[in-house]
Amino acid sequence: MRALVTGVAGFVGSALARRLLASGSEVVGVDCFLDYYPRALKNQNLETLKSDRFSFVEQNLAHGDLSQLFNGVDVVFHQAAQAGVRKSWGEYFSTYVESNVLATQRMLETIRVKKIPIKKFVYASSSSVYGNAEKLPTSELDRPQPVSPYGVTKLAAEHLCVLYAKEYGVPTTSLRYFTVYGPGQRPDMAFYKFILAGLEGRELSLYGTGEQSRDFTFIDDIVDANLAASEKGAAGSVFNIGGGSHVTVNQALTILERNLGPLKVVRSERAAGDAAHTGADATNAKKELNFAPKIDIEEGLRRECEWLRAQLKIGAVARL
Ligand code: NAD
Repeated sequence: MRALVTGVAGFVGSALARRLLASGSEVVGVDCFLDYYPRALKNQNLETLKSDRFSFVEQNLAHGDLSQLFNGVDVVFHQAAQAGVRKSWGEYFSTYVESNVLATQRMLETIRVKKIPIKKFVYASSSSVYGNAEKLPTSELDRPQPVSPYGVTKLAAEHLCVLYAKEYGVPTTSLRYFTVYGPGQRPDMAFYKFILAGLEGRELSLYGTGEQSRDFTFIDDIVDANLAASEKGAAGSVFNIGGGSHVTVNQALTILERNLGPLKVVRSERAAGDAAHTGADATNAKKELNFAPKIDIEEGLRRECEWLRAQLKIGAVARL
């Protein structure tokens, strides 16, 4: 297989590209190094992809001609996006529109206009499309009602994927990831910050009461879901990809303390745009993609602690 992985220098994109290379695929990776977090971490991700079957293109998908990227490509894994809920309020919103909506539309439009014969276009959607969901666990048929501008842009791009499938037969499948964690996690994400603070004996800042809950999904399971979606899943389909580890943030902190010792938790205001609870009904992914998460939160957090401990030793961490 020849795969195009967008956002390849990021957390999910690099993990996915590593797996594809390990299984013998050719990978074209694209990224524009958005400065949301330090480029040094992204360069480090790219270092892990050294292979004569890997080629890298530095390009912003919202600009320039994209057609060259698709040369000989069978499957597109579209992971590129401006991530993060909090920064999506205010003037930075234009970057969210550009990287999440416009970049996705330009990819789909290129495939349509140039009649690029891809087998599958897998789009990284998000549980943030649900906002404060009407029911838990939430199914794909429940009404999406994002509570952050980030969620609005992820949902808009997902709708585009469905539209291009329906009107023009572009074989898209959207995966609504529920909070991804594990080795390589973005440094703005809660577990990364908690673990690093714990390792360094610093105070950590917890938004809200800690009773907010999430369906946490380990990175290797997200990669599995992408590979499954590249083979199965009807054009225009949308799936929840949840980790089956539904816990409160306070419960996650207790698990972290088993790995790191007592943590110094300082509580602060709930952050605008944070959903109170997320929980995936992943029945459809099980049925149609044969996807089931393998790593539970105990094991997943143990692995993330181990990874970050090693990163700290070599000075390859970011304190955001
Ligand atoms: P990340 O920020 O680590 O990786 C995204 C990469 O995309 C970055 O390296 C960035 O430079 C690149 N990028 C952004 N806009 C681009 C553009 N216009 N052109 C080229 N490259 C661009 O984020 P991540 O955590 O790896 O997220 C990957 C995908 O998964 C995103 O689409 C995100 O919305 C989605 N997602 C992530 C999570 C999570 O918990 N990490 C949850 C739900 C959905």
